[in-house]
Amino acid sequence: FNSIPEGYPEPGKTTVYDDSQVIDTAHVELNGGFLVKILELSIDPYMRGRMRDPSVESYASAFQIGQPLNSHGIGVVIRSENPEVKKGDHLHGLFEHQNYVVRKNLEGLQVVQNPNNLPWSTFIGALGMPGMTAYTGWKEFSHSKRGETAFVTAGAGPVGSMVIQLAKLDGLRVIASAGSEDKVKFLKEIGVDVAFNYKTCNTAEILAKEGPIDIYWDNVGGESLEAALDAANVDGRFIECGFISAYNDPNGVPVRNLANVFAKSLSLNGFIVTRLQDKYFDEFYKTIPPLVASGKIKHKEEVWEGLDKVGEFILAVQKGKNTAKAVIHVGDE
Ligand code: NDP
Repeated sequence: FNSIPEGYPEPGKTTVYDDSQVIDTAHVELNGGFLVKILELSIDPYMRGRMRDPSVESYASAFQIGQPLNSHGIGVVIRSENPEVKKGDHLHGLFEHQNYVVRKNLEGLQVVQNPNNLPWSTFIGALGMPGMTAYTGWKEFSHSKRGETAFVTAGAGPVGSMVIQLAKLDGLRVIASAGSEDKVKFLKEIGVDVAFNYKTCNTAEILAKEGPIDIYWDNVGGESLEAALDAANVDGRFIECGFISAYNDPNGVPVRNLANVFAKSLSLNGFIVTRLQDKYFDEFYKTIPPLVASGKIKHKEEVWEGLDKVGEFILAVQKGKNTAKAVIHVGDE
């Protein structure tokens, strides 16, 4: 991480690729710890929020200038002096954007069980933090009832697409938006009843025709949130998961029609997955992996090769240019 951006992050300035440190994996000192080879790293929207002045408090720690970025990843243990960890174990957690990482203990890491032999990248997407986000937020706040109507934005991404499929499993009618025709096609493949491209269609008009909506899963804020507030049913539930339309705008995006919250007795719940995941962790890993393995829950990934692509991929996600869950493939087993 090289400098704090004002608007969109700039690859080569905000982040620089530096391959100057070389280690000898066979002999590097482990001091009782273990050596992990990084296989896959996740690129997520919230990484933009971590590119800030570290004195500003937020739910996720700020990146430190001069230090490697970090994000959710999957690695395989290639040497271990720690009896709790053995060679060949696959670990999930926040990893520095490096090819190899030495860790003392399992703090902040989980050993991943993969009985269905899914690709390891699945564990940073549908079965990782984004899938968990969808699951926890939906279970905690949707209070869904069969036959109700839900609206989901950024529907083709890992969070949105999981929310849509959970809503369909609950018997809801789902309206969802995304930013390209290919993404709209994917929305239809996962069962969305009314799928549209918010860049070529007017969200407010679609919701006026297809609503009212009982549940709004908000990944974006801005105009979509305003349209959802106007189209909400009395006693509607708004699940505030993300505000990506404002992440790169230093002035934020004002919401004009919040008065709907009292006029329609809406409940508005914001949440951060890390504060909810303990409650749902076991339930999630019991129910969702088999559905993903059998194809009942579908998911899509866009994989870029190599750590040198991280900066560009971060920017692509912020601009909505990613076509699916953004994964950096770092190394093979
Ligand atoms: P995605 O992989 O779907 O990537 C983000 C997508 O947001 C882009 O592909 C783009 O899709 C859309 N987007 C970008 N800019 C805009 C814009 N200006 N207006 C509308 N849409 C835009 O992301 P995730 O599924 O990983 O995350 C979705 C949301 O969930 C994000 O807001 C993220 O911050 C939030 N989140 C929240 C968590 C929590 O704990 N609360 C945890 C994890 C994620 P499109 O082409 O459709 O525009």
